[in-house]
Amino acid sequence: MSNNYIDPFQQAHIERLVAQFGSPLVIVDCERVRSQYRSHAKALPGVELHYALKPLPHPAVVRAVLDCGGSLDLATTGEVQLAQRLGADPRHSIHTHPIKRDKDIRNALAGGVRVFVADNPDEVRKFRRYRNEAELLLRVSFRSPGVVSDLSRKFGCDPESALELARLAASLGIPLRGFSFHVGSQALDARKHVEAIEVCARLLAAARREKLGKLDTLDIGGGFPIAYGDAVPDIGRFCAPIRKALKLLPKRIRVIAEPGRYIAGPAAIAVSAVMGRAQRGGFWWYYLDDGVYGSYSGQLYDHARYPIRALRQGPLHASVLAGPTCDSIDVIAEDVRLPKLKEGDLVVGSAMGAYTWATASEFNFFPKPTVVSVNETPGDTGTVLEV
Ligand SMILES: *Cc1c(COP(=O)(O)O)cnc(C)c1O
Repeated sequence: MSNNYIDPFQQAHIERLVAQFGSPLVIVDCERVRSQYRSHAKALPGVELHYALKPLPHPAVVRAVLDCGGSLDLATTGEVQLAQRLGADPRHSIHTHPIKRDKDIRNALAGGVRVFVADNPDEVRKFRRYRNEAELLLRVSFRSPGVVSDLSRKFGCDPESALELARLAASLGIPLRGFSFHVGSQALDARKHVEAIEVCARLLAAARREKLGKLDTLDIGGGFPIAYGDAVPDIGRFCAPIRKALKLLPKRIRVIAEPGRYIAGPAAIAVSAVMGRAQRGGFWWYYLDDGVYGSYSGQLYDHARYPIRALRQGPLHASVLAGPTCDSIDVIAEDVRLPKLKEGDLVVGSAMGAYTWATASEFNFFPKPTVVSVNETPGDTGTVLEV
């Protein structure tokens, strides 16, 4: 950590940043991005970390990951272009969207990306014409009804058909690098990761026996959890069974993980201001300039509940926090204990880096919050970048 580090989540800095940049604000602490990256790397030694841009595709976050020696997980042409603009080495990036248009493949190839993901025969066939430039990982599905967002319902082939798909790729002359999976986001424990690693270890060995390709890569996806209200195991403990399972892999396998939430989530807070208030049904209702159509959109899309506090001190009352739009669904919290707030008072949501600003809309013409990054370089007290 540099000597010039300031903690932008402290009250004085929150107030300074809102005075400078207005509200609503999302404050990203690049030092926290780097420290999340380092903790993750320490928890999975020897595993290449590819930050998945989707939870917070912001240049300051991407640069902080690259600064730490991290790589990128890209899924769309927009993400490929952002990585290109920031000078990321495309040979270290992977493209992990299992379903792509031909132009998405071409854009990624033009940007220098080589490794792609496919999960079905039609998608594999799309790579026949690119077999001299592109290499494939085959995504395998492991259902996780327990996780908050089960991504294996929408993507991935059954483990039983993965070898058949590998044979198809090999028969078309498409270089096959290995298998990938994503057990779903915010996993509560590592059991699914372990099960998936065990199955993929067998698939790699079987595909190698049939000489279906180089088969030197396993991509274990994301899903690494962060604490919102309730405690979750720290990353070292969470990954302990994963470290053990990875020892079962055949020799000389390159292992990749694609953390998104874990890197970005704890690295940002969302700050909004009270626009007005009213007493309704015995409660104070406070209307903020950010809500579920803004950075609190994660409450709907990501099923998250963020710890929320006001900067003002005082006796607490059961209160309601609402967003700014005219829609009745735009209520952030009905059950929150807050001091009596006034117009202009600031309210802070924590752990709001992942799947928050990224999924915000401009419904009712309320603009998305401004993102200000701090500590990108030593002495950086707050910068608003073009996104
Ligand atoms: C969204 C996504 C990730 C990131 O997942 P987290 O649970 O946020 O770590 C990684 N890989 C792929 C393919 C994704 O779609």
